[in-house]
Amino acid sequence: MKKNLTELKRCEWCRGNELYQDYHDHEWGIPVRDDRLLFELLILEGAQAGLSWLTVLQRRESYRAAFDNFHAAQIARYGASEKTRLLANPGIIRNRLKVEAAVLNAQAFLAVQKEFGSFSDYLWQFVNHAPLVNRWANLRQVPAETPESKAMSRDLKNRGFRFVGPTICYAFMQAVGMVNDHILECFRHPENLAADNAKSQARKRDTRFTRSQLRKTR
Ligand SMILES: [Zn+2]
Repeated sequence: MKKNLTELKRCEWCRGNELYQDYHDHEWGIPVRDDRLLFELLILEGAQAGLSWLTVLQRRESYRAAFDNFHAAQIARYGASEKTRLLANPGIIRNRLKVEAAVLNAQAFLAVQKEFGSFSDYLWQFVNHAPLVNRWANLRQVPAETPESKAMSRDLKNRGFRFVGPTICYAFMQAVGMVNDHILECFRHPENLAADNAKSQARKRDTRFTRSQLRKTR
C-alpha cells in the first residue's frame, strides 16, 4: 500500500507549511553539483540572514525573476540602475547590503569558476567531495556551524564573498547536501531511503516471480 505523505516521519522544522514540506522532501540535503543552482542557494541563504527560511522560500520565484534566474554573468554586471530596480521590488528582501552582496558574490563566483573550473569543485573540497551524513536523533543535536562551515566561510570571505558567515555557510551546506542533517527517524535520512529502496526492489522481484509463475500455469 502506498504510504500517505502526511503520515511519513520527517524533520519537524518543515511541519505545518506545504511549501516548506515540499522543499524538505524534494530538495534539502540532496547533493547539488550544478553551479547555477549552487549560486542561487548561496544568494538565498545570504538573503535569509536575520529572517526565516520560509520568508525567503516564499519569494524564490520573485528572486529568480528579479535576478536573471541567478545567472552570475549577468548579475556581476549590475550597476546603479539595476540595484535601484531591485530595491524597489517588493518580491525580494529589500536590503541594500544584501542586494550589493549579490552583485559582489556574482563577481567572486565567476572568479572561482575561472580558477577551479567549476564552483561546485571548489565548494565540495570543503567536505572532501562527498556528503557528510550525520545521525542526529533530534533537531537539538544539529549544530549551527562546524569546522567545515568555518573553513568555507573564511575562504569565501577571502575571495570577496559577503553574507557568508559560518552559520549561513552551514545552512547552505545542509541545503545543497554537502552535509545530510535529516534526523534519523526522518524518511529522507539516507539509511531510511536505503531501506525503502531495498523493500521496493524486493517487491519488484516478487512481482516478476508472480508473473513467471502465472505464465507457467497457463
Ligand atoms: Zn528530514
